[in-house]
Amino acid sequence: MKVDMETHRLQRLNTCFLRLLLIVAAALAVLVALWFYQGGWDRMQRSRLLARILPEQVIAGPQVAIISGHRGFDSGAVCDDGAMEALVNEEIANRVADLLKKEGVSVEVLDEYDPRLEGLKVQALVSIHADSCIDQSGFKVASAEQTVISQQDALLVSCLKERYAQATGLSFRASAITKDMTQYHAFQRVADDTPGAIIETGYLGGDRALLVEDPDRAAQGIAAGILCFLDAQAEMARTPTPE
Ligand SMILES: [Zn+2]
Repeated sequence: MKVDMETHRLQRLNTCFLRLLLIVAAALAVLVALWFYQGGWDRMQRSRLLARILPEQVIAGPQVAIISGHRGFDSGAVCDDGAMEALVNEEIANRVADLLKKEGVSVEVLDEYDPRLEGLKVQALVSIHADSCIDQSGFKVASAEQTVISQQDALLVSCLKERYAQATGLSFRASAITKDMTQYHAFQRVADDTPGAIIETGYLGGDRALLVEDPDRAAQGIAAGILCFLDAQAEMARTPTPE
């Protein structure tokens, strides 16, 4: 009888212990979920300590950053009929991101003055804008006036130029490139070795049909340009440099 009671007591203790364990596990799960929800994974990816332990690919974050021109800041050019540059840019930027993701490229779409631009290190940064409401046609691409990676910048620009013209049929307007483009604020914010370009996808005036009614075509041109650049870079990395 006494032995029975002892076993019973032990059993009760056991169930008590198990329940406690379950509660602790559940609480832990909730805490972990909360941490992830509040961007814990992002922070972990940016952690310097982990960067030393984990291979670069795991920690590297997005390969490509797209700036959705004017987003989070102002509306950009606004035409008489209410067409807004910022919205046109965003339609194209999101499509570019989707197209690149389909090709297995990790992409982040950023605001015009996104805090993440500070020291940003990616394989390519492309900012998407559109030109004014005047009745003209054509697109422009430019990189930073001052750069320590002029070859890479030039390659990104030429890839974008070629593929965007192919996809859209628009003509390139080199003469219309302004200091607003070559001294673009984001070029100064990102890491020195981040290749960057800004594209003016066309005029909200003369190229309205393409920009508003066919943003897929514009997006395909930009995505193809970025892929052309990434492929060329990967190819160069594989080819050993002659001594
Ligand atoms: Zn703009």
